[in-house]
Amino acid sequence: MGLLNENITKEEQNEMILANTAEELVIMTVNEVISKIDMCSCDICKLNACAIALNKLEPHYVTTTRGKLLAKIITEKMNYHTEVLVEVTKALLAVKENPLH
Ligand SMILES: [Zn+2]
Repeated sequence: MGLLNENITKEEQNEMILANTAEELVIMTVNEVISKIDMCSCDICKLNACAIALNKLEPHYVTTTRGKLLAKIITEKMNYHTEVLVEVTKALLAVKENPLH
């Protein structure tokens, strides 16, 4: 899930990619918040929460390299953390009520 991958080669780090930093931040936030809520934390529930939250948030596309993606996501987090946290929490609670399994 997501484009972040720590185990990439030097060539892959320089590879240009198109990324939605809002999406990467939502995935990161879902993974953080789901452990604090008493709910199922399987991939189906995580992906479902990501979809719900992302439909409420504006996308923020960037062209970057894989190696610089994390820095872009951290900037996104500084600017939009509260907004993302609110939508992710709402989405997780909705999934908790109505899991797709
Ligand atoms: Zn689940």
